[in-house]
Amino acid sequence: MSLLKILTYPDPILKRPSLPVKGNPQDLKRLVEDMFQTMYQAPGVGLAAPQVGRNIRLFVVDVSSHQENAGPMVFINPEILEGEGLIIWEEGCLSVPDMLVEVSRMEKVLMAGQDLSGKRFQIKAEGLLAIALQHELDHLDGRLIIDKVSSLKRELYRRRRLKEAARASA
Ligand code: ZN
Repeated sequence: MSLLKILTYPDPILKRPSLPVKGNPQDLKRLVEDMFQTMYQAPGVGLAAPQVGRNIRLFVVDVSSHQENAGPMVFINPEILEGEGLIIWEEGCLSVPDMLVEVSRMEKVLMAGQDLSGKRFQIKAEGLLAIALQHELDHLDGRLIIDKVSSLKRELYRRRRLKEAARASA
């Protein structure tokens, strides 16, 4: 296993809509293992493939540090079938460092996806898991929490990030 580089805003790969996974998902086993390791090390509770430079519809989550009955999970080609309620949570993102954004999400969701063997499954989620699933699904559509703040706040953040990136590479 190896740690992957987590891309950060404003990297254009994060804005690109990701493509469905076709063929044998087993080929993604290594990537998934690396994504879990990268996520735990960060640490974070979710990581989507575009965050590590792959524009495919795949993410991993593990909210077991915050919620019972929620261990490591892999979602390939995920979609939300049903949702209800409203919950507002201050979210962070490994690709949007040093920023917390209040985001409103559906409180409960029914999500479908495929696992690494290609088998389709559904999961009912609520609380932090429901939030994490919607946050990661957003990544696959090129949406970030920073898109949910005012354009002025976003521009100031973008400049700060570019300055920090320039300093880091100097
Ligand atoms: Zn994120």
